[in-house]
Amino acid sequence: MLIPQSAPQTQRLDGILRMNAIRFDPLLKRIRWGGTRLGTTLGKRLGPETDYAESWEIADHYEDQSIVNTSYFAGSTLQELLRDSNEAILGRHAGRDQFPLLIKFLDASDRLSVQVHPNDAQAKTYDPTENGKTEAWVIIDAEPGSRVYAGLKEGVTAESIRAAIDTGKLEDCLHSFEVSAGDCVFIPAGTVHAIGEGILLAEVQQSSDMTFRLYDWDRVGADGQPRELHIEKAIACTDFELGPVNCQVPQSIEHGQELASCEYFNIRRYAGAGQVPIPDDDRFHVLLSLAEAATVTVGPEVEQLAFGQTLLLPAEHEAATINLAANSTVLDVFLP
Ligand SMILES: [Zn+2]
Repeated sequence: MLIPQSAPQTQRLDGILRMNAIRFDPLLKRIRWGGTRLGTTLGKRLGPETDYAESWEIADHYEDQSIVNTSYFAGSTLQELLRDSNEAILGRHAGRDQFPLLIKFLDASDRLSVQVHPNDAQAKTYDPTENGKTEAWVIIDAEPGSRVYAGLKEGVTAESIRAAIDTGKLEDCLHSFEVSAGDCVFIPAGTVHAIGEGILLAEVQQSSDMTFRLYDWDRVGADGQPRELHIEKAIACTDFELGPVNCQVPQSIEHGQELASCEYFNIRRYAGAGQVPIPDDDRFHVLLSLAEAATVTVGPEVEQLAFGQTLLLPAEHEAATINLAANSTVLDVFLP
C-alpha cells in the first residue's frame, strides 16, 4: 500500500497508485427464515437473535453500503470508493457509477418464498434506477434432504400458475431437487425459484433488490399477517420458455473450475492445496472463502481469508496469488 497515512480519504487514485485488497464490514439482515449459521459457521458477529438471514459482503445498493474496514479508506462506503477511485477499482469496466455485483452469504433455516426477479428491461419499467437480477448460488452446507426450487416444470403456463396458487398447489408446478455442498445453481432473471430450508450458501447477483413473491407457503409473519405477494408482477417477469433449471456442470480450467459464466459475472472455484495466481487483467476480483482459511498475497502483503470472509481485489492491484491449504475452497468472482 503506497498511500501515506495522512492521505485524505477522498484522494483520487486513478492511474497514480496501485491498491491492495479491500475488506468490508458485513451488512447483516434479519429475516424470519434466517438462522445462526452466519455466526456459527461463517464467523460473523451476530446478536442474540436467531433469524440472521443474509450477510451482504459487498454491496452498493442505495442505502445498503459496504463500509471499508481495512486500508486507508476505512469508513468509506463502496459508493464513495467508486466515486473517488473508479478506474482503480473497476479497471476495464470503469465508468460505472454503481458496483455491479451484490455478494451475499445466506442462511435459510426456513424456506424462502417462491419468487421471481425481473430482467434489466423489466426492472427499469418498475423503477428506472433498479437493475434486473440474475443470480447464482454456491452451496456451502446443506442438511440432508434440503431442496431448491428452480424453474417451472415443462408445460406450466401463467394460467396454471394462477390456478395452482388459488388451490395452494404451486409446489406441483415447480422443478426441485436436492442439493449438497459444492453445488452451483444458476438462476437467470425470470426463473421462478425458492431456496429450501437447511441450506447455507454464497450468492452472486447483479446489484438489485427487486423481488416479486409468488407464494409464501401460506405462512404468516411475527405480526400474524402474511407477507405481501406480487403475483401479477411475478408472472409478468417469468420467462415461461426457461423450463427446469438444474445444477451447473463445472468446467475445468487451469488450477480449478468455472462454475458459472454469463453476461453479468463469472464464478471460478479453486480448492485444495496450491497457489493460484490472480491474473493482472485490469478487472476487480471478489474472493470468498467457503472452507478452511486461505491467504492472499498481494504485493508485499499477506491477507488472511478465513472461512466466511470476502476480499475485493481492485483492478489496479499488485501481483496477487491465492494460497490454499488442503481443505481450502475460494471463489473468484469477476465481470466478463
Ligand atoms: Zn432470488
